[in-house]
Amino acid sequence: MGFFLSSLHFSARCVSKPPPMTTENLNPFAMAQAQLDEAAAILGLDKATHAMLREPMREIRVHFPVKMDNGSVRVFQGFRVQYNDARGPTKGGIRFHPEETIDTVRALAAWMTWKTAVVNIPLGGGKGGVICNPKELSTSEIEEQDVPAPDVYMTPQIMAWMMDEYSTMMGHNEPGVITGKPVPLGGSLGRADATARGGVITIREAAKVLNFNAPEATYAIQGFGNAGQHAARLMRELLGARRLLAVSDSRGGIYNADGLDWQAVLAHKEETGSVVSCPGAQAITNEALLELPVQILIPSALENVITGANAPRVQAKVIAELANGPSTPEADVTLRKKGVFTIPDFLCNAGGVTVSYFEMVQNQTNDYWEESDVVARLDRKMTQSFHDVYRVREAQKTSMSTAAYLVAVQRVAEAMKLRGWV
Ligand code: GLU
Repeated sequence: MGFFLSSLHFSARCVSKPPPMTTENLNPFAMAQAQLDEAAAILGLDKATHAMLREPMREIRVHFPVKMDNGSVRVFQGFRVQYNDARGPTKGGIRFHPEETIDTVRALAAWMTWKTAVVNIPLGGGKGGVICNPKELSTSEIEEQDVPAPDVYMTPQIMAWMMDEYSTMMGHNEPGVITGKPVPLGGSLGRADATARGGVITIREAAKVLNFNAPEATYAIQGFGNAGQHAARLMRELLGARRLLAVSDSRGGIYNADGLDWQAVLAHKEETGSVVSCPGAQAITNEALLELPVQILIPSALENVITGANAPRVQAKVIAELANGPSTPEADVTLRKKGVFTIPDFLCNAGGVTVSYFEMVQNQTNDYWEESDVVARLDRKMTQSFHDVYRVREAQKTSMSTAAYLVAVQRVAEAMKLRGWV
């Protein structure tokens, strides 16, 4: 993105942080590569294509100054990784997070590549991250950033500032350069809850193939940000699923064996900043929530929450990965052995980028769709993608996660071949 680089110092490549010292390698990029390696072996991918897909095509690291409210200047660090653009321009959000690392952004950019491929939209994969804690920054301090799409701790207002900045530099309005914008500035109706809606649609389809009754199913949601909040509402609205037993956020969780009222929980979060101590529920930790005896577990926060260590204790029958990278490869193996049906992240949460793509199309054609059209098109895309993956799972007698990799990697590899890269 020209505007992202324009006023900033950047270097071509960053040094990776060493992986954390655990028995399981929790470095997200090492995990993303391991997942690709498995798919490449099954597909019999040629060496050059495999080698190319193991690494990002381009990376930049930026350091940029921000004038703080007290008059001082603080230098922040950010990354942008353009992982692969064989199927179209790289697409993906940018996150503000105090513990952001280049390897997390690399992994997320790889997963965006598989995500756009699995839902078959003409885009590649990328991701950005800025190391900062937005909870400690004021509105005017945050306005210094630029953003191609929303991710963790992002809002439509931030997208609006970025679009305005870029348009000013170009000298004309350029709404399509950033997605997740507010609706009055060229945002798409239906974008705000698209990630959750897409995920709930995949749960609906899973209920059909696995033959379980969604309205009666018990479920828990880990994370109560954009994805988790909308998931709570849409599980109820779309599936009639009324047995939400637990939710959590970064401060802790709440549990009620008789069910939580998602509207009361949301009101409490809006009032106090957290779901913790919501009346009518008992306290539960994030860790304990993941191990509850519920039928459906919906991790909707950050990566690496289900690992080799706690996976043996997970009791859910279905895991709908609304977050990016919530389960490690070691956890995946354990869950697979236990017969858990995982709807993998880059399929389950692809509704967000799908409606981002719809937003770009609407900006380019200057033809804005009714919300019901957006929702119907999203439903068709998610339903078809779920069954594309499920068919491969059945044919290969493998997991949904491996099947999703097989579908996505094959599509990206085909585009690379057609371009004459390999
Ligand atoms: N941040 C979202 C994701 O991880 C959406 C990205 C986009 O809309 O480009 O899929």
